[in-house]
Amino acid sequence: MASGEDRIARWINPVIRSMSAYHVPESAGLIKLDAMENPWTLPDATLREWSDRLQSAAINRYPDPGAHALKHTLARVMAVPAGQSLLLGNGSDEIIQLIMTAIAAPGRVVLTAEPGFVMYGILARTLGLEYAAIPLKEDFSLDTDAMLEAIRSRAPAVVFIASPNNPTGNRFAPDAIRAIIEAAPGLVVIDEAYFIFSGQGVMPWLGQYEHLLVMRTLSKLGLAGLRVGFLAGTPDWLAELEKIRLPYNINVLSQQSADFFLGQYDELERQAACIIEARDALYRDMQALGAFKVFPSDANFLLFRSLTRSAAKVHQSLQAQGILIKNLHGAHPLLDQCLRVTVGRPEENQTFLKALATLD
Ligand SMILES: *Cc1c(COP(=O)(O)O)cnc(C)c1O
Repeated sequence: MASGEDRIARWINPVIRSMSAYHVPESAGLIKLDAMENPWTLPDATLREWSDRLQSAAINRYPDPGAHALKHTLARVMAVPAGQSLLLGNGSDEIIQLIMTAIAAPGRVVLTAEPGFVMYGILARTLGLEYAAIPLKEDFSLDTDAMLEAIRSRAPAVVFIASPNNPTGNRFAPDAIRAIIEAAPGLVVIDEAYFIFSGQGVMPWLGQYEHLLVMRTLSKLGLAGLRVGFLAGTPDWLAELEKIRLPYNINVLSQQSADFFLGQYDELERQAACIIEARDALYRDMQALGAFKVFPSDANFLLFRSLTRSAAKVHQSLQAQGILIKNLHGAHPLLDQCLRVTVGRPEENQTFLKALATLD
């Protein structure tokens, strides 16, 4: 009889076999500054109103498969232009998977820029797509010429661009994004997960380009636990993606909660403004330590390079002091000795800063 190991080797797709699972580090008891979460909670009165509303959620019924109420609220709050449609995902990760599933066929190419969001590469590979990643320039701006050349030579089915970008934190020049959209033969997805911190995006361009899709998420603005992301774009494109979306991908608690909290968007924006202020202060304070090069950010995190110690050493020392951040050394040649820290609450940022200042 074949051992379990043999059967697994025989039947699991070799591409999947060769991969390792997405690793989320243990964070219990640590100051968690590794995942771009919003560190703030909402006022008690708001939370009470929320739980009252959830009492009436029909958990014995399947959720509204079209999430009509939530989409309506999203369209208003996010200023989605009239005539455009919305598609919701269990986080924008699921939307990336949907888009790639819809275009997957032998020889099809996914194009992006790196260092960038890791899920693009992970999902492209699991679906057997060809993955082309053009390096950013040294200053983390888009290498527009190289992107345009790749668009000409590879004819990508879809181009993904995150702006602001993760893990570099900067947003890209609108002209560079526009040139890529205009040259692309297939879809272009602009991933605006950090929109609330940059305030500048391409949502208003929908309507100018029928092959442009704008993706956002509620995760980074304070609702990561709900798992709600959305895609805005031309009804014809989204209708194709709807065919492969699992009908009940947004559960009733997430639909109702997201709808409720979007009603408090002013408060979420106030929190984002606080985070931006803390980010800029942290940038200055870290830079002043002299041992780090800190990169400018339009998001809720800072990428920095350790100049005097290895990134691994910095990461370890911080962890020993109860602080979890992300070590990016080895993820891409441009991220040599780089780490990423999410902006936390002021006291968390102070603890982090003190730990950085007293590394041995
Ligand atoms: C965090 C992040 C996402 C994923 O967000 P979810 O909606 O939580 O799945 C997508 N794109 C970028 C660039 C991100 O940093």
